[in-house]
Amino acid sequence: MNASRDAALSTFPGAVPIPEFLDGVARELAPRGFTEDRTFAVVSTCRDELTVPLMRAVTDRLDLAFYLGALGGVPSLGRTGWNAALSHVPVDGGRGHLVVLGMTHIGFGPDGTPGQSLRRHQDLPTPTCGALMSILHSEGVAEALPDALDDNEKDRLRHLMKKVSPERSGTPVGITRRAAQAVTAEMWAELDALEAWRTMDVAAYCGVQVHVHDHPDLIAVTDAQFVGADGVRTELRAAG
Ligand SMILES: [Zn+2]
Repeated sequence: MNASRDAALSTFPGAVPIPEFLDGVARELAPRGFTEDRTFAVVSTCRDELTVPLMRAVTDRLDLAFYLGALGGVPSLGRTGWNAALSHVPVDGGRGHLVVLGMTHIGFGPDGTPGQSLRRHQDLPTPTCGALMSILHSEGVAEALPDALDDNEKDRLRHLMKKVSPERSGTPVGITRRAAQAVTAEMWAELDALEAWRTMDVAAYCGVQVHVHDHPDLIAVTDAQFVGADGVRTELRAAG
C-alpha cells in the first residue's frame, strides 16, 4: 500500500509511468512518419531536480533534446530560443518531425498530501512544484523584493497562468492543472506564431509529471495536439 501513489492516481486517473507514456507517444506518431532517428524532441519541465527522469528517458530514446523549461515547466526561451530550437530539427523527406513535451509537475507526499515531496536525505517534505505552491500561497498578496534580486521566472509563470484563467487556483492540484493549461497555451502561441508547420510536422504533449513517494514518476497528459502541412491543429488521442 502506497498512500502517495493512491492519491496521485485518484487525482490523475489516466497517469502512466514515463516509459509507458513514451511508448504511447511513439506508437501514436509512428504512422504519421515520426521515426526514432529523425524525430527531434524539445522538452519543457521545471528546473526542479525531480523532473530529471523525464528528460533522461527522452534522451535515452531520441538521443539529444532541446531544453525549453523554466520554473513551473513553462517554456521560457523566448523568440530567439525557439528559432534556434526549430532550426535544429532534422529533415526527413523534405519535412521535419518535432515532438514537444511540456510538463508542469506536482508531488504527492508519503501520506498522499498533494503539492509536496519528501526528498532524499531530508526529514520533512518540501513543496513540489515549489514555484507553484509559492504562487498559491501568495495569491492576492503583494510581494516585495530587495533591489538586487528579481523573481522573473515566478512573475512570468504567474502572468501566463492569469492569461489562461484569471481566477485564483485555490488548491495545489488546482494550480497545477492551471499551470498545465499555461504550458499548453504558451507552447502553441510560439509554435503558431513561428508557423513551425510550414517546414515540420509537430506533435505536442502537455500535462503533469507526477512525483510519487517510493515509486517512479507518472505522466498525466492533459492536452495532445498535432499540426501537419495543412496548418490545421487536430487533437491526438492523449497518449497517457
Ligand atoms: Zn517546480
